[in-house]
Amino acid sequence: MKNNFDINNLVRENVKQLKPYSSARDEFEDFDTADMIFLDANENPFENGVNRYPDPQQNNVKTVLAQQKNVNSNQILLGNGSDEVLDLLFRAFCEPKEDNVITLPPTYGMYGVLANINAVENREVLLSEDFQPQVEKILAKVDENTKMIFLCSPNNPTGNSFSDESVVTLLESFKGLVVIDEAYIDFSEKESWISKLDEYPNLIITQTLSKAYGLAGIRLGICYASTAVISVLNKIKPPYNVNELTQKRALDRLENKEKIKSEIDSIVKQREELLKVLLDINFVKKIYPTEANFILIKVDDANKRYDDLINKGIVIRNRTTQPLCENCLRLTIGTEAENKKLIEALQSSEL
Ligand SMILES: *Cc1c(COP(=O)(O)O)cnc(C)c1O
Repeated sequence: MKNNFDINNLVRENVKQLKPYSSARDEFEDFDTADMIFLDANENPFENGVNRYPDPQQNNVKTVLAQQKNVNSNQILLGNGSDEVLDLLFRAFCEPKEDNVITLPPTYGMYGVLANINAVENREVLLSEDFQPQVEKILAKVDENTKMIFLCSPNNPTGNSFSDESVVTLLESFKGLVVIDEAYIDFSEKESWISKLDEYPNLIITQTLSKAYGLAGIRLGICYASTAVISVLNKIKPPYNVNELTQKRALDRLENKEKIKSEIDSIVKQREELLKVLLDINFVKKIYPTEANFILIKVDDANKRYDDLINKGIVIRNRTTQPLCENCLRLTIGTEAENKKLIEALQSSEL
């Protein structure tokens, strides 16, 4: 399949025909040039740090990411959060009312929401009891209009990552795009699928600065894919989709690798501590294995335990309405002090 994969067979016809908007900054790119006078974009000329439009290609951020992830800059697309990146994927590859995608509940809710917004059918194939993709069932749902399969690994809200074997089978058997959402990869010991980009032309990976990198507020999502996929996405993205303040903050943070690593280490350590304590809480019926910065637990009565924690000033996520997650709660790992309070609240509820 490697040899006959052609991205053009997947791109929507209107996107193929599209002539992208050309911004002032696209037409004269070299805007770091100090001695140029810029009278091309109707900006206010008085300097205040953000009076100029941002770099539409975010080259400085991409250069750092490319270096850290060992890819080329033209294998990267940045968006206003992963949510924008995922939306661009729908708009590039899925013809409304015609195409379909496959998602694997229980998983991140945005895939289904974006499918609905874009009038794309969402074919759901439940994960197995141990939260792994049911590959045969997934492949049985594929038809000629199936454009993308969304894999979230480590998965939200279950916390586990998907077996290499199932991911590889899907990459090799499915002729559309396999999107792996790695929002939580930095909390896992597993290697990112980014290293397999050259091997699988239908592989797309999304990551985000919202979780391990501690920058949910700036909204920066990242897509890693083949240069062919990235150039399709570049055609349809809004010209200035990542603002100047975001680019600056992202750069500062990315250059501070030690700080990020120490925060991740602390979160993982707290996660392991919390896992141990949960074993002894009498209303916790099951603790699911996790490679993320949260823990999914099954309790005796999720609604009751959720309300009880709210009354004690702690907000967690009640996932009981999700398939396979009856009476399940999702606990995000906080600071050591926050986790101590959570543990006290759980212990005092046992009585
Ligand atoms: C939190 C999360 C994201 C992050 O989305 P952003 O828009 O980048 O903040 C993406 N995917 C999953 C599965 C998540 O849980």
